[in-house]
Amino acid sequence: AAKRAGRNTSQCYGPELVQRLNERIDMRQRLQEAIRGAEFELHYQPQIDLTSGRVRAIEALVRWQHPRLGQIGPMRFVRVAEETGQIDAIGAWVLARACAQHQQWLSQGLVDAVVAVNVSALQFQRPDFVALVEGVLAASGLPAHRLELELTESVLMDTVGRGTEVLAQLRQRGVRIAIDDFGTGFSSLGYLKRFPVDKVKIDRSFVADLGQEGEGAAIARSVIAIARHLDVRVVAEGVETEAQLDWLRRHGCDEAQGYLLAKPMSAAELTEHLRDTLARPDALRTRPT
Ligand code: C2E
Ligand code: MG
Ligand code: MG
Ligand code: MG
Repeated sequence: AAKRAGRNTSQCYGPELVQRLNERIDMRQRLQEAIRGAEFELHYQPQIDLTSGRVRAIEALVRWQHPRLGQIGPMRFVRVAEETGQIDAIGAWVLARACAQHQQWLSQGLVDAVVAVNVSALQFQRPDFVALVEGVLAASGLPAHRLELELTESVLMDTVGRGTEVLAQLRQRGVRIAIDDFGTGFSSLGYLKRFPVDKVKIDRSFVADLGQEGEGAAIARSVIAIARHLDVRVVAEGVETEAQLDWLRRHGCDEAQGYLLAKPMSAAELTEHLRDTLARPDALRTRPT
């Protein structure tokens, strides 16, 4: 048994860990170069109103365009950037870029929607976060009510006391708050009562098994019921099939986002997409019930 434990220990602290640490250090340096060299880019994915078929929100999703490695998704670098604190610089850039781009779409009359920006826990906990948001809104000219911040439940859990206050300050200024990946964290539905939010996004893991009438469907049903009761909008993320969309529409979900409706697109692609939609008002419309 001792021998086995020893082997396990050496497995834990052996070459694998060293390699992982080295990768991490590499990643930190590469991220530093990426920040300096402006290698980040935003893609945008619409959230569609299930009643009107209109675009209600456009979510900004960061990508890292590495000169040699190609496109790297946020799942591969956001965690590290949080650990190193580099998320501050990246997050500030994302917020500024998303607001500036959205203000342009609004002024071109291409859309009547909010821009949704993902905010990491670390960013949200900064004492100057509200000031950052105010500065970005002022610089871009975007009205506060056109900005929606997507926070995960864990962000809210981590910051119980002050977090509520920051949320209140943001909402007082007109900024909208959405809870992302809802149902995956530790919070209960009762949480929605304590935190003033405008929207909840049902996590895509629940949306994935809506057809089977299993756990996902049960959770989605409760979220929709409570949200309606509290006058909070509900969005289902990761909608990939007609069956899922039908289910959501039948059960009164307000909005949907997913590959079935529109994939994340570059700013240029989404501009084209929005133009097409304006030219053909039914293009994005989902089938009426
Ligand atoms: P999220 O905010 O929950 O974003 C949804 C993710 O699901 C995106 O992945 C999106 O591309 C993907 N997705 C959308 N529709 C579908 C679908 O129908 N099927 C499937 N399988 N996936 C779909 P992405 O862009 O890789 O982003 C992953 C996560 O990284 C995001 O999850 C968010 O938590 C984080 N993230 C993205 N951009 C930012 C950012 O600017 N700042 C921070 N802090 N985090 C970000
Ligand atoms: Mg999100
Ligand atoms: Mg999400
Ligand atoms: Mg998610």
